[in-house]
Amino acid sequence: MADYQKHLEEIYQETIHLQGKGKVADYIPALAETEPTKYGITVCTLDGGLYRVGDADETFSIQSISKVFTFAMVFNAMGDKLWKRMGKEPSGTSFNSLIQLEKENGIPRNPFINAGALVCVDCLVSLTKNPLKEILSFVRKLSGNPKVNYDSVIADSERKTGFRNAALANFMKSFGNIENDVEEVLNAYFHQCSLMMSCTDLAKAFSFLANGGVNPQTGERHLTESQCKRMNALLQTCGMYDESGEFAFSTGLPGKSGVGGGIAAVLPRSLSICSWAPELNSYGNSLIGMKAMELFTTKTGISIF
Ligand code: GLN
Repeated sequence: MADYQKHLEEIYQETIHLQGKGKVADYIPALAETEPTKYGITVCTLDGGLYRVGDADETFSIQSISKVFTFAMVFNAMGDKLWKRMGKEPSGTSFNSLIQLEKENGIPRNPFINAGALVCVDCLVSLTKNPLKEILSFVRKLSGNPKVNYDSVIADSERKTGFRNAALANFMKSFGNIENDVEEVLNAYFHQCSLMMSCTDLAKAFSFLANGGVNPQTGERHLTESQCKRMNALLQTCGMYDESGEFAFSTGLPGKSGVGGGIAAVLPRSLSICSWAPELNSYGNSLIGMKAMELFTTKTGISIF
């Protein structure tokens, strides 16, 4: 078996010099205050192993990684009906782009760009009385950490400046692809993005995706085997926006990034991994995280390919 601890320590040492080359997200003012030199990685294996390096247990704003959780909730509840509301194709555009939506009648390309995530949240608002409570309890269950919570300062900060997300939601509403009140949908979306979790929380929370849809800690099924396969396919093709091809090429794992600097990924039937380094590249993905993931599959010799 690979010596994950040794690999993580090597990866940390070999990538730390990249600090200063990226830029912490500042379009959400509260995120601009994140310390740029934070850096951690956790690997969680399905047989219960946990390997960590650096700031792996410090919480950060998970931002778009949260899209995986709300998508899993609505995919589980609605099944293939969901595909009437969104597609399964990579967008080849940035996460908050408006450009395809008009030509494609308000149907987002996939669940992981902002437009698709807003539709997922809209579905959740239709399906549940208290979507924020449901999201929180799902994520706490997945991570096994009852302390996971929203950061209301970050959610408020994004609400005050999230004009693009407001534009996306209103635009889709004009096509009839948002059922609920736009403000309510945006509020739930900004809150899910503000969830504070550590690399260890996220690696544990992603382990059901390495385990055919079943949480290995509790035995609870959250997606069917087939839905889990499809989720991982979407993560591989769309999880890193217009850098998804590069991520498949260099790392070869289904994964999801967030502008808080996190990247979470899985190797089906084996493990989940999460890195956090807040400085981003020009695609809005963690610059060090991209390199760390590449080194992880290179050093261990494992990937889905
Ligand atoms: N909350 C962020 C936004 O909507 C999430 C983007 C991201 O993490 N890529 O802009």
